[in-house]
Amino acid sequence: MASKWTCPYCNRPCTVGKDDVRIISGKNYISEEYGKYKASTQITVCPNPECRKRTISLTIIKIDPHFETEIEKVHHWNLLPESAAKPFPDYIPQQLRNDYEEACLIQNKSPKASATLSRRCLQGIIRDFWGIKKGRLVDEINELQEKIDPITWDAINSVRHVGNIGAHMEKDVNLIIDVDPEEAGLLIWLIETLLTDWYVQRYERQQRMSGLVQLAERKKQEKTQQKKPADS
Ligand SMILES: [Zn+2]
Repeated sequence: MASKWTCPYCNRPCTVGKDDVRIISGKNYISEEYGKYKASTQITVCPNPECRKRTISLTIIKIDPHFETEIEKVHHWNLLPESAAKPFPDYIPQQLRNDYEEACLIQNKSPKASATLSRRCLQGIIRDFWGIKKGRLVDEINELQEKIDPITWDAINSVRHVGNIGAHMEKDVNLIIDVDPEEAGLLIWLIETLLTDWYVQRYERQQRMSGLVQLAERKKQEKTQQKKPADS
């Protein structure tokens, strides 16, 4: 059956189906002593002809010893690519992309360190994109409210009120806070949203506008050239 999937390398949404032999699943029984488990390897080759990179993940699932039905997913590892970071274009400052990519890489291994990088990245985005520099991240976020659209503001506001992230927004961004991988993931999601909504959209708007200006200029020149023979 075909399914929707977004490639982590080229970030292109595509449809992958078993007819293309792009998903391969393997099953192994690991242990019956402490319950029965299944290891499933999934290999997906990106259907985009310009990419064709492999994404590999491994999932350990506990199964019912009698009925062989799946009970729960015990572990899941993304083997390739190592990081779930989305590729962002290089007109976004390198430092921001580095912090974001590293935050993704260690989200599960060290959510505390990941959240610290994410908060630094968040502050870097607000400072670079909006030119707001106040010292504390909480003050910088408050200043943002008047400048940005209410939907984006609600997204930022919802993340800042989650568990320990919210409780420590007032502290220095370099302070290490105790968060779980899910909370670290929320910060990563927020960063991805802001990079897309601010940097990518601004760039694409600029491209469209300059395209429009060039088109108008060409039309103007064409008209002047058409007029010329009549004038002379
Ligand atoms: Zn791809």
